[in-house]
Amino acid sequence: MHTREIAKNLYLIELETGGFKNLICSYVIKGAKTTLVESGPTSSVPRLLDGLDELKVKHEDVEYVAITHVHLDHGGGAGTLLKSLPNAKVIVHPRGMPHLVDPQRLWASAQLVLGFVSSIFGQPEPVPKERIVTATEGIFNLGDGAKLTVTETVGHASHNLSFKESFNNGVFPGDAAGTYLPEFDAVVPTTPPPFHLESALSSLDKLIALDPTALYYSHFGKASNGIQLLIDYKVQLKLWAKIVAEGVKADQTSEQISERILAEDKVMCKYADYFRSHPIYSRTVIINSLQGFIEYAKQTQTPASPS
Ligand SMILES: [Zn+2]
Repeated sequence: MHTREIAKNLYLIELETGGFKNLICSYVIKGAKTTLVESGPTSSVPRLLDGLDELKVKHEDVEYVAITHVHLDHGGGAGTLLKSLPNAKVIVHPRGMPHLVDPQRLWASAQLVLGFVSSIFGQPEPVPKERIVTATEGIFNLGDGAKLTVTETVGHASHNLSFKESFNNGVFPGDAAGTYLPEFDAVVPTTPPPFHLESALSSLDKLIALDPTALYYSHFGKASNGIQLLIDYKVQLKLWAKIVAEGVKADQTSEQISERILAEDKVMCKYADYFRSHPIYSRTVIINSLQGFIEYAKQTQTPASPS
């Protein structure tokens, strides 16, 4: 079984990208207008289609594929997926749209930032422009009174959207709320460059204001204690920002800064061995998320004025 029911009219599809469980998922909102949240990466599209078959969702009945942002693990598979969903339109932030229409630049930068992980996700195929709907805020009617409400939640990326579904009033935050580790019921930063701390913190305030009954993380799964996790994530981002700002000021290497984070961040410290040995998270959480903070600190620290 690739799928499980997680709330009323809502199903999770485990994409098991690269053979890794609890790494990336897509969601299906069943209703008058069936909607997917996240296409997932190109390499996982066959698995996603298997999930739809398992849920007895007819491919022609899918109305929307809402993608939180265009990074390969969330929207990379949209072009490939749409070939199998003849009536579906993609919902995306307007700043993400050009990367769906022509994914070449996105693919090149993903290879740089993610290294070998990009090949696990696979190269994105273009999405025809006429099959894209852009939004930053607003409501999509899913039929029979059901709604999908869009909120702009940038910071992780300049094109991250969150979606609230009206069947259960839960929220899909994309990567605006970090990476959730269901094994540990804890959150860790997902903040690769270009990361913008202030925007990320105000997006977290927006998510808290939505008062979600649950969060549906793309990495990974449903958390019913969403508000507490959002509050924890704000504290964690501020801690990382402080450690990194001090490290950059003192000219420390990224290894020295990451050692301090692994020692002082409660979650990272408790599960340090897990992160160090995880083939994906050792790259994405420890190296890429830290790099996002380092580049942000370098841009925002004003050099001392000459006396
Ligand atoms: Zn992601």
